[in-house]
Amino acid sequence: MSRLIFLGTKGEIEEETPRHQYHSSLLIEVDDFRLLIDYGLKHRYTLEEIKPEALLITHAHPDHYSWLELEIKTEVPVYLTEETLKYGKYKPDNYKVISLYESYNLNSLEIIPYPVLHSIRCPAVGFRIKISPRQTLVYNPDLVDILEKDRMLAGIDWYIGDGSSLKSNLVRRKGEQFFGHTRITTQINWCKKYQIKNIVFTHLGKEVIEKEEEFTQDHPDVILAYDNMELII
Ligand SMILES: [Zn+2]
Ligand SMILES: [Zn+2]
Repeated sequence: MSRLIFLGTKGEIEEETPRHQYHSSLLIEVDDFRLLIDYGLKHRYTLEEIKPEALLITHAHPDHYSWLELEIKTEVPVYLTEETLKYGKYKPDNYKVISLYESYNLNSLEIIPYPVLHSIRCPAVGFRIKISPRQTLVYNPDLVDILEKDRMLAGIDWYIGDGSSLKSNLVRRKGEQFFGHTRITTQINWCKKYQIKNIVFTHLGKEVIEKEEEFTQDHPDVILAYDNMELII
């Protein structure tokens, strides 16, 4: 049995509600193994309390990576890209540099980091994680697009995506480069194309938090995560 625990579910916004107080962060529990993804500045629990065996970081924005501004001492191995490591003011003591599209085995989990379009200065990755022979998920809480969707989304059971925007356009452009956030509806269309049955959004933005009930009525098959939500998969 595996559990997904959404420790935090909001993006880099000032607004908060009782359901969305902490920056997006996901804890994956498989048997006794605990893998944490992202650890931003607003977190309910410390790493001593969460006790993950490993921590993966998507990118160096403050809602995902506390070492950007804070020196946090921990022996937990922190997996991140070279760009994220260099961008932070501080570095985790036990860091492990990861490369795009390389496969990493942590306990029984198989993890592949892949590039997503999101920020020009802080390049971001998503993670494709095989939890069991029958359950594979992708986690990309902040993105405009996935560079290689065919390669990363085929055969996925769970899509956990960026809930920043419902209708407003949060995609920005600088020269040829795009950054920001794509809409929830665009991501739902990707899931339809790749026949991904389970769709969850985290990293919720202002617009989504305000229209949460309306959204859930319009999209009964899609889950909007809230702080401490648990899914048994
Ligand atoms: Zn973010
Ligand atoms: Zn970001």
